[in-house]
Amino acid sequence: MNAVAVRPVAEIASYHAHIYFEADSERSQALALRAAIADRFAVRLGTVWDRPVGPHSRAMYQVAFETGLFASFVPWLMLNAGGLSVLIHPNTRNMRRDHLDDGMWIGTPLALDGEILPEDGGAEEAGAPNTAPTLAP
Ligand code: ZN
Repeated sequence: MNAVAVRPVAEIASYHAHIYFEADSERSQALALRAAIADRFAVRLGTVWDRPVGPHSRAMYQVAFETGLFASFVPWLMLNAGGLSVLIHPNTRNMRRDHLDDGMWIGTPLALDGEILPEDGGAEEAGAPNTAPTLAP
């Protein structure tokens, strides 16, 4: 067996979940999911974009979260995404690879314009949570 270049999990500084929605038909569902997340998880919720932005081909918002939340937050999203497309990707030092190669999808995968993403940069930390959870997941 050939040796493979094993990448340590320590490369991952944080994760993003990008929650996509059709702006004309799924916006209220996406915002209800956003509120349910805020009620249950100490994460950093990003701006709600009603149009494609960056590499993303559909309206969406970002949820930044610490690596320690993966095992509780991602399964919760699996059960509660409600048919919305969700991209979960690690944040390492290569944003293009993070989004295009190393992510995972809940629901239907969507196209990404990865050409605009840098292949070298800093590994983004999750940032301070801006939610105040009061409910158990
Ligand atoms: Zn992201």
